[in-house]
Amino acid sequence: MPATLSEFDLIKAFFEGVGPKTDVVGLGVGDDCAVISIPSDKSLCISMDTMVEGIHFLPGSPPQKIAYRALAAAMSDLAAMGAEPSHFTLSLTLPVSNYEWLSEFSLGLKTLADQFHFPLVGGDTTKGPLTISLQVHGLIPTGQALMRSGAKVGDIIAVTGTLGDAGAALTILDRVDDKLLTDGQSFLLNRYYYPSPRIVQGLQLRLLASACIDISDGLLADASHIAEKSKVELEIDSESLPMSEALLVEQAGNACGFALSAGDDYELLFTISESNWEILNEQKTSHIYTKIGRVNEGSGVVVKNNIQSSKSMGYKHFE
Ligand code: ADP
Ligand code: MG
Repeated sequence: MPATLSEFDLIKAFFEGVGPKTDVVGLGVGDDCAVISIPSDKSLCISMDTMVEGIHFLPGSPPQKIAYRALAAAMSDLAAMGAEPSHFTLSLTLPVSNYEWLSEFSLGLKTLADQFHFPLVGGDTTKGPLTISLQVHGLIPTGQALMRSGAKVGDIIAVTGTLGDAGAALTILDRVDDKLLTDGQSFLLNRYYYPSPRIVQGLQLRLLASACIDISDGLLADASHIAEKSKVELEIDSESLPMSEALLVEQAGNACGFALSAGDDYELLFTISESNWEILNEQKTSHIYTKIGRVNEGSGVVVKNNIQSSKSMGYKHFE
């Protein structure tokens, strides 16, 4: 293979056959359009995310990691709606068509695409500053999308996974020498580079949760979106936030601040009635859900017991 490739060779080599060919795909990469068959009882959820070198990731970042993180972040929006990943498209702008770079980039996409039976069905490739745009499509039974607007007074507020890990990774991202990393630092960096799209949890929550959002901008910022759309107050108890051992060790003294405010974790934040919370916890799965607060009458987000970072955060932070 030559070090640089023509546009058509490049598409064939790296973007055909990313993810399996599933039932919905009539036609994938290679024609003027992809052709998709949507089952008549389903609705399509569509979301788009763009990542630009120097803005969303450091120049020279490993291509496999860029691809994985970009796709995982985009898929996280499907998870937050309770959608099942169906297919995706990619718009890729590249300064040069380098074989090795593209090969690794394609591998990063393939890892998630295979795992979630999520085929790449088309896209566009242009020359210019490195930019990755992904449009993800998911299916939900019509009328069952999990929205930000359904939180009810008295509901429990809960999250998946642990919070603050990816944000803590950002503080060490530019000074990492793999050999010198502690186990905790490696864990945090993996949480940043390889977010887990909470698809299975989203599907489980679809019939149980009253509202849901994925945490991309930080718990408080994203909680404020549910508060606003649902016209309620979200009261979060900072003593109940789920935090990893690595975060507690690496950011001793400020772990709670990261859990409250740092972004990029792509965990799900949801509200759920008491009775459905019990049902959720009776469904024996390995997923971890942690109760972190209550929905009250009012507006905005209130943080209880916020001792560590109350000075920098304030209480009614996002009204
Ligand atoms: P056209 O000129 O008809 O728009 P292109 O030459 O841009 O077609 O693309 C040819 C085929 O390759 C199309 O099926 C398109 O969807 C696909 N394609 C182009 N770039 C990408 C990419 N980055 N990822 C996936 N598919 C791509
Ligand atoms: Mg054409």
